[in-house]
Amino acid sequence: MFKHPDPTIRAAAQRAFDALLDAIPVSSISAQGLNLDEGAQHFSGVLEKAGLRAEIWDGEGAPTVFAERPAADGRPTLLFYGHYDVQPPDPLDDWDSPPFEPTLRDGAIFGRGAGDNKGQLLAHVGAIAELIARDELDIGVKFLVEGEEEIGSPHVAAVAEAHADRLHADLALTADAPVHDDGSPVVIFGVRGLLFIEVELAGAPADLHSGNRGGIAPTPAWELVHALASLRAADGRVLVPGFYDVVRDPEPAEIQMLDRLPVNQQQLTDDLGEAGAARWQDESPWRALGFKPNCNIAGITSGYQGTGAKTVIPSRASAKIDFRLVADQDPDAVFEAVANHLRDINPNVGVRKLAAVPPSATSPENPRVQSVIEAVRHATGRDPLLRPRLGGTTPDYVFTQVLGIPSVLVPYGPTNMNHHAPNERMTIEAIERGAACTVEICRALGQEEA
Ligand SMILES: [Zn+2]
Repeated sequence: MFKHPDPTIRAAAQRAFDALLDAIPVSSISAQGLNLDEGAQHFSGVLEKAGLRAEIWDGEGAPTVFAERPAADGRPTLLFYGHYDVQPPDPLDDWDSPPFEPTLRDGAIFGRGAGDNKGQLLAHVGAIAELIARDELDIGVKFLVEGEEEIGSPHVAAVAEAHADRLHADLALTADAPVHDDGSPVVIFGVRGLLFIEVELAGAPADLHSGNRGGIAPTPAWELVHALASLRAADGRVLVPGFYDVVRDPEPAEIQMLDRLPVNQQQLTDDLGEAGAARWQDESPWRALGFKPNCNIAGITSGYQGTGAKTVIPSRASAKIDFRLVADQDPDAVFEAVANHLRDINPNVGVRKLAAVPPSATSPENPRVQSVIEAVRHATGRDPLLRPRLGGTTPDYVFTQVLGIPSVLVPYGPTNMNHHAPNERMTIEAIERGAACTVEICRALGQEEA
């Protein structure tokens, strides 16, 4: 099944494949609190079998699996991050085979978690197991496998703080996404952060007749619109005082990377519509996606939205807003600034913080990061795309800020991975790519000093 010319990589991929068939039936769904102990037990067993010493850390939330194998004298240590929890499989009717019965067809294993994240994590484990079996692993390796990634990793930072000495390493490596949308391998050096808030305004004790009381009653829906309008200019610029104070411009090396990233105009048109994509015909969207913070209205709720007319003054109005943040913005400081700004506009406004994840960045100039890039090039036979930032948010700051170590993301998933959707898959090719990259990264770091 696996065709890679290097027998170590072929055997590593076979190990990952076999382990994935065993792992998919363990339906650890964090959103529903299902089988999380089983998931942790399963992955702890897999890591023990690979030749590491594994343990399970219980605490608040789902258990965390930790495993380690010390470095040979003077060699660096690599920390792998992954998660054993999966998304709920719904809608069940849209699956062509049962989500928790791994099924091989069209050159891929289908099942919930096949790509996100079990298949990619097990590509790492398969490679480590094979290198240990061949007595070719010089670097130290550690695994941090959590069970709450799919619900926003609410406890992983606290776990990392509590076990910082055990987790210390020279580099963190995560594989938890598809490769670039043109199929190219990609190395990513950071992520945007997230601040999610809810804004609320209340008026009269109950909805009122807009004739009998219109003109004398409080108008929370209008007040909400005014408050929201004060957050952002028409061109997208955020108007909260101090918001841009610590925003870092990309370094020259990062600008070069951004300029080299291909833009798939068809994909943009499919996603944004003709009019939305037109804005990005002459300018690459990558800089805005990685280095500009953004303020989005995720939802607005007030009053009557049913069929026909209803003359009513709503008594409440609320909105959910998310900010994507960039280095060096701190979500808690941004929350204070936004809340103060909104209270200046309207002292009656209620502002609640629903989620806060700091942005994260690792310098591409870091020598270990350079080794990873070179190893991925060697493993895939292609120049990987270098992407300074992911537009989305992962708990990457746990490594760069809490543990203070450089961190890179090297995704292996296929472009049609269907993560979070029915018919999730991990292709045979992607398993082999993951095994090859892991083996080569370990070999490259094995040449270096700790
Ligand atoms: Zn996911």
